[in-house]
Amino acid sequence: MSDYDYDLFVIGGGSGGVRAARIAATHGARVGIAEEYRYGGTCVIRGCVPKKLFVYASKFSEEFEDAEGFGWSVGERGFSWSKLIAAKDQEITRLEGIYRRNLDRTNVEMHDSRAVIEDAHTVRLLSTGQVITTRYILVAVGASPNVDTSLPGVEHVITSNEAFHLDELPGKIVVAGGGYIAVEFAGIFNGLGVDTTLIYRGEEILRGFDMDLRTTVRQEMEKKGIRVILNDAFSSIEKQADGSFLGKTRNGETLAADRIMFAIGRNPHTRDLGLEKAGVEMDASGAIKVSTDSRTNIESIYAVGDVTNRANLTPVAIREGHAFADTVFGNNPWTVDHSLIATAVFSQPEMGTVGLTQDEALSRTPNLDIYKSSFRPMKHTLSGRDEKMLMKMIVDAETQKVLGVHIVGPDAGELAQILGVTLQMGATKADFDRTIAVHPTAAEELVTMREPTERLRG
Ligand code: FAD
Repeated sequence: MSDYDYDLFVIGGGSGGVRAARIAATHGARVGIAEEYRYGGTCVIRGCVPKKLFVYASKFSEEFEDAEGFGWSVGERGFSWSKLIAAKDQEITRLEGIYRRNLDRTNVEMHDSRAVIEDAHTVRLLSTGQVITTRYILVAVGASPNVDTSLPGVEHVITSNEAFHLDELPGKIVVAGGGYIAVEFAGIFNGLGVDTTLIYRGEEILRGFDMDLRTTVRQEMEKKGIRVILNDAFSSIEKQADGSFLGKTRNGETLAADRIMFAIGRNPHTRDLGLEKAGVEMDASGAIKVSTDSRTNIESIYAVGDVTNRANLTPVAIREGHAFADTVFGNNPWTVDHSLIATAVFSQPEMGTVGLTQDEALSRTPNLDIYKSSFRPMKHTLSGRDEKMLMKMIVDAETQKVLGVHIVGPDAGELAQILGVTLQMGATKADFDRTIAVHPTAAEELVTMREPTERLRG
């Protein structure tokens, strides 16, 4: 290995790349890493972390209202967008510092530069032109927001990247997209008092999740004042003399807004990376094709995280990076199981989910017992808020194995984490039934749903 400058060179200092670099270094590898923007990557700098901070900020408006039902008089309220941005930026800078220190502590050499691949064992740093040789290359460059480049006026739209740095909070916004990022941002802006519209070309928001949850989240968002337009999309966008925007839709609507945000998907960040030159295979979307152990078709080049478009979530990228480093440098081969991933959508109300949706379960077995409960969370008996919580459990009628659990309501994401453990262990409905409830909680519903609400047979 000593013929090379490094044993491993990682391109991309985000979730997957940083984990792989640190673990490989602790196994004794000489590791270099290049990051073109900020260490921590999408999740820390302009993804999960600032997004969740914004969600917290946006929820206070309802908290203040709910407090009155419990006897509180909340005085005059005010919100400062610039204070929120400054506090968020300070926290992100602190986290980036931790990422840098952790890499430093494990003796990973950091290069603050864009890196491109020259061949199977060589990378080039664009900031200095330095050419580096390495036994292995790990591509962990993530993905970037996709905008419809053929749309007239697309230059006027912002994406989640810009939403984290707006100079001022818009009075009115239209968010285009129906995935979790679009839905979360619609909730954030609405909670902060922005007149919010969500426009999505599909039949229902949150494609890929259980239909009952998708409908419930959309209806609750509408109750909170978000206008949701389905089966429609922008056909053009124009900038007005006063700086605001007018969007025309395919169905003939005209939508006026101070800002138009696109969250219609993300593309693997593989352009101009030198992958073609090195002979690395990609799919039609530009995602790098990898085997279960994250190896590309080139023996010395691996790829993890969003750039492989397997399950585009931070904990998955981290796992893939860890498995790669243990396998290649730690003499401990293992692979990531992508089949059961618990996840949350920080919509308002929140969504937590693990396992199969009803449609997925039906495509595997025709006999299902569905347990569903929709109820008013205890807090809203006094707050008076008209918001329902939904819990749904999908059970294989023959084996009684729980195939999926889906929740909409407060702390659904927290519940999904621990439900993920039970499903990993192969829990049956009987396991839930014999578990004593925690009272008074919303979660106790999960162990007290006795009779199926639906029995699907054949
Ligand atoms: P990234 O974290 O994107 O890191 C890639 C890094 O590579 C970047 O820092 C980039 O600057 C750098 N880079 C790219 N090209 C080069 C190059 N040529 N040279 C050097 N550096 C380069 N996931 C969750 O699990 N939960 C959430 O709640 C969640 N919320 C999200 C909210 C938003 C708004 C967004 C956009 C994403 C969210 N995600 C969430 C997804 C999550 O951020 C990604 O799945 C995760 O960051 C992927 O990690 P990664 O290592 O593959 O790539």
